[in-house]
Formats: sequence, C-alpha cells, structure tokens
Amino acid sequence: MQRAAVAGAPACCLLRAMVDTAPRHLYLHVPYCAAKCPYCDFNSIAGRDAEHAAYVDALLAEVRRLPRGPYDTVFIGGGTPTLLGVALLARLLAGVRAHLILAAGYEWTCEANPGSSDAERFAVLAEHGVNRLSLGVQSTHDHHLRFLGRVHNASEADRAIELARRAVPRVSADLIMGLPGQTDAELRQDLTLYRRHDLSHASVYHLTYEPGTEFHARRGRGELHDIAPQDSRRQFDLLWDAFTDLGLMAYETSNFARTGQESRHNLAYWRQRDYHAAGAGAVSTVGGVRVTREKHPAAYITAISAGGAAAWRSETISATERQRETWMLGLRLAQGVVLAEVEAQGDPASRWRSRVDALINEGLVEESAGHLRLTRAGRPVQDTVTVYLMP
Ligand code: SF4
Repeated sequence: MQRAAVAGAPACCLLRAMVDTAPRHLYLHVPYCAAKCPYCDFNSIAGRDAEHAAYVDALLAEVRRLPRGPYDTVFIGGGTPTLLGVALLARLLAGVRAHLILAAGYEWTCEANPGSSDAERFAVLAEHGVNRLSLGVQSTHDHHLRFLGRVHNASEADRAIELARRAVPRVSADLIMGLPGQTDAELRQDLTLYRRHDLSHASVYHLTYEPGTEFHARRGRGELHDIAPQDSRRQFDLLWDAFTDLGLMAYETSNFARTGQESRHNLAYWRQRDYHAAGAGAVSTVGGVRVTREKHPAAYITAISAGGAAAWRSETISATERQRETWMLGLRLAQGVVLAEVEAQGDPASRWRSRVDALINEGLVEESAGHLRLTRAGRPVQDTVTVYLMP
C-alpha cells in the first residue's frame, strides 16, 4: 500500500517522504579520557594526546559523508569530549556546523567531565550551538570519587556545574548509586546538587561490575562486593522520592527530568528511531542495519583516512531482535511498551497476554490506553520482568 502510494506521487511529495523518513538524530563519539575509570566499559581510552588532532580530522571526514540533515538532535559523547581542549573542540564543532543542517528547535548535547571543564571550553561549545551539557559528576563525596578513579573532586564538580549553567540553557548531572559503603545520608547529600543548581535533568546509574573492567576483576578476587538487593531498593526509593519532590519525574529507568526537559536524543534511541553515528566504536542504526565502527581510535583513523567506512561489524536487525528491543527499551520508559506496536512487529498477543496478566496481578506492571508500564514495585525487578516478557 505504502509503496504504491509513493510510486504514484509527484516528485515534490517523494522528496518530502524521503526527508521525513531520513534519520534525524546523530551521535558523535570522542573516545579519549584523562584516565580510565576502573568501572568503565565504554569505548574510552586514556591519554593518546598526540592523536587527538588526527582523530578530529577523521571524525569530521566521516561527518562529511553523512546526509546533511536536518537533524533534530546531535549528541557528542565519550569518553570525554571536553578533553580535546579549546582549539580542537572549536575545529570539531565548526566542521560539524559547516556540514550539517540543524532543525529548528534542535537539541545539541555534549558530555563533559568536571576534570576538563572550564569557562573557555563551555563558551566554545555554546558559541557553536551546543545547548545542553551532560556532566559526569558521579558523587559529591571525595572518598567515593577516589574509589571510582575519577580525576575530579567534589568542589571541582560543583564549579563545573556552575559554569555549565552559565554557558548553556540545559544542564544534566550524572550520579552513581550502589557504591560499596555509600550511606543514605551521602546519597541525600548528592541529590541536593539538583536543587542547589536548579538542574532540570538527572541521570543516576547503579554501579555494575562489567566484564573486562578493573572492578570486575577485583570483584572476582573477592575484593569488591555487590551491595545487598534490599539496599539497592531502598536507595532507589530514596532517589525516586527526592526527585519527585524536586519536580524531576522518572521518564526512564535511570533518567529524571522536568516536563519538557527530557533528553530528546536518548528518547529517540529508546523509541527505536533510526540514527546516524560517527566516531570510534560509534553505533548507527539506519534502515534495519546496525553498524559498529572500529573501536580503537588508531584503527578508526587509519580506516577513515584510507577512505574506508571503518565498519567493524555490520548486522541486519532480525524481526525477533527488534521485538526483543521493543520490550526491553519500552519497559525502561515511563510511557511503557506500546502493545499495538509489539503486535505490528509480529509478536502476537497470544504469546505474551497471559504473562502480562500474571504480572498485572502481581502488581509489577500496569496497562492503560494500550501502554504497558512497570509499576514502582516492578522497577527493582525490571530485568526479570523484561526477560519474562521477551520473545
Ligand atoms: S570518564 Fe567516563 S568514559 Fe571516561 S573512563 Fe571514566 S567513566 Fe569511562
């Protein structure tokens, strides 16, 4: 039906149809960090300062191969993009602006860490159009920051938030919960930063021990331990209540925002919209094909400089995989899974209906207006519920 309608349409409508379905989201990755945090399994690498300029050139070369847009959201993540320094940041941002068209009302986020945040860098970001900063604060307690291997201290984090607030209209701060020995009083103290700086967005992640990280190895040797599940739940309740008091609502499992201040870029990802990407290890999903680029920056630079795509892995997303992602990502969102969408993707109600009903009876999920959401009681067992409902 759709194909026939498009085939008979005049050229201007065809063009509009192409533009309307083109991905409107872009992720750019900068993999460098001042030091590798012992819990981090992101594609990040410490040092290699001498490589930064060549990396920016390669990243811009890949950006110039992308469709020009318009883009609703751009997200520069890392790593630590602000580690590039003023001159390289300016070169990167100017190159992006020269090639891409940003849609009216666009959202352009850049991640920053307090250890490489200053007024000059933030001014460069703002001058080139970045209008949202996401700061890796992680804790307001120096002993926890040292444990996490962070290169900043609490007062530097506070100062970075202050500078960010002056530079751009929207600022988010990340925290980590579930730290060994972290008390409720410390977590409450962490949360005061949102009121103190009048922040409209927060991301809070539970410490996890990911394979390949130093913390994972230390846990394997019995030096570190997961906190007890009841402590996780209590911290989760504490967070939820504190953010509700601040008017920051949980719109995703780990993300809280005032209405209208949600990360539109991340929402697009959670809603399975297509998005372009560029940079070492960056993942794009366009037209059902997911491409992961070379993860090591040196390999990425070499491939891009030789005119290659730097694709380390390219996979077609199967129907089942798509359905599984719909459950997994949808259950993370406050709006929940759109059940009609699940069925439209070929996952029939006959497979999951009785399971959904059982979970409703247990009070772990609720259904309204065709959406299935986790209840507050269901949030702490999100992974179990998700696996139970997935095909
Ligand atoms: S600063 Fe962030 S990206 Fe870099 S190593 Fe630490 S956690 Fe990973």
